[in-house]
Amino acid sequence: MSDLRAEAEALDARDELGGKRKEFVLDDTVYLDGNSLGALPAHVPERVADVITRQWGSLRIRSWDESGWWTAPERIGDRIAPLVGAGPGRIVVGDSTSVNVFKALVAAVRIARGGTDGPDATVGGRDEIVVDATTFPTDGYIAQSAARLTGCRLLPAAPADVPGVLGERTAAVLLNHADYRTGRLHDLPGLTAAVHAAGALAVWDLCHTAGALPVGLDEHGVDLAVGCTYKYLNGGPGSPAYLYVREGLQDRFDSPLPGWNSHAEPFGMRPDFEAAQGAPRGRVGTPDILSMLALEASLDVWDGVGVAEVRAKSLALTDFFLRCVEAYVPQGRVESLTPVAHAERGSQVALRCPGAGDVMRRLVERGVVGDYRAPDVLRFGFTPLYVSFADAERAARVLADTLD
Ligand SMILES: *Cc1c(COP(=O)(O)O)cnc(C)c1O
Repeated sequence: MSDLRAEAEALDARDELGGKRKEFVLDDTVYLDGNSLGALPAHVPERVADVITRQWGSLRIRSWDESGWWTAPERIGDRIAPLVGAGPGRIVVGDSTSVNVFKALVAAVRIARGGTDGPDATVGGRDEIVVDATTFPTDGYIAQSAARLTGCRLLPAAPADVPGVLGERTAAVLLNHADYRTGRLHDLPGLTAAVHAAGALAVWDLCHTAGALPVGLDEHGVDLAVGCTYKYLNGGPGSPAYLYVREGLQDRFDSPLPGWNSHAEPFGMRPDFEAAQGAPRGRVGTPDILSMLALEASLDVWDGVGVAEVRAKSLALTDFFLRCVEAYVPQGRVESLTPVAHAERGSQVALRCPGAGDVMRRLVERGVVGDYRAPDVLRFGFTPLYVSFADAERAARVLADTLD
């Protein structure tokens, strides 16, 4: 047995999260795509079956109260909160990340302008939105539309260049916490402080960090944040996203999508809108209960797990995988795009490789599932709750064989 294989065994033997793997439905595939779709926690099918057959099938309309359907968006928000460093009452679950980016960004611009838009759009002179130029595309498209709707100019800037473009015209800044292609982790505390120094609001997209590393939303004074729940949070395909609004801004959060669910008195059925207090203000319409309750069940896997230990294992896994790649893959065949420095690394490794699309197809055929991002990137996501060091070693070995 190679040294690295023996080392993987030793690392797995003393891995305190090692026991979590059996809580998921997995086979002998090396599953390194949890950064796109988290694996299924084993207890979820039975819980979803109960939601369908008993709550929907028998209780029917009574379930809105008796099964806690109506309050699920805030209840589940409070379960996600400790994973992203938020106190209770600040997160609401629902809609997709894309929709929540829209709510958060338009609301941020409205707050930055002191609650005015429309004809008085330039009150306070804040008429610029800065967007992460390396963002996942949907955030960029939504930012363009939000800019048009609010009469702002859109300034794309790489996260490292953001401080240089901030000024008294900046209303809001939309950033990805980790780069979905390279796995680079951006400096959330430092960039948030720079945005605040310019008098603007910071909106963060946590899709690639929530469930993989500590985020510290409250601690770092993040204004608004969004994220999906189907990646490192394992909520299931298309499970609803979440929206965080900092406590001190909740009264000023003016949603561009007010619906009856965000009304102070939803069942008053009144013609005039009056916003609810607190997190429910971020809701829109009737929540998607089936996927929301699948998400709620899936969050049980976090019971007793600390985000700090998840982060420690994530870094150990990606370090070990990079070492295995270096040892097994002939020099020059792949180039890592993932930063070496821990402070700049999320929970995935991205390798640039000619013919990456074909290479990934062959890896999948051989039981190593990552994914491919155009034009030439192999992505390997490391979900600390269920990926082992043996998985990391095998993935690197199969990659080397495939490239051979
Ligand atoms: C995965 C991801 C999304 C996905 O948005 P959906 O609305 O759920 O499709 C958005 N932003 C980032 C940064 C992502 O990584």
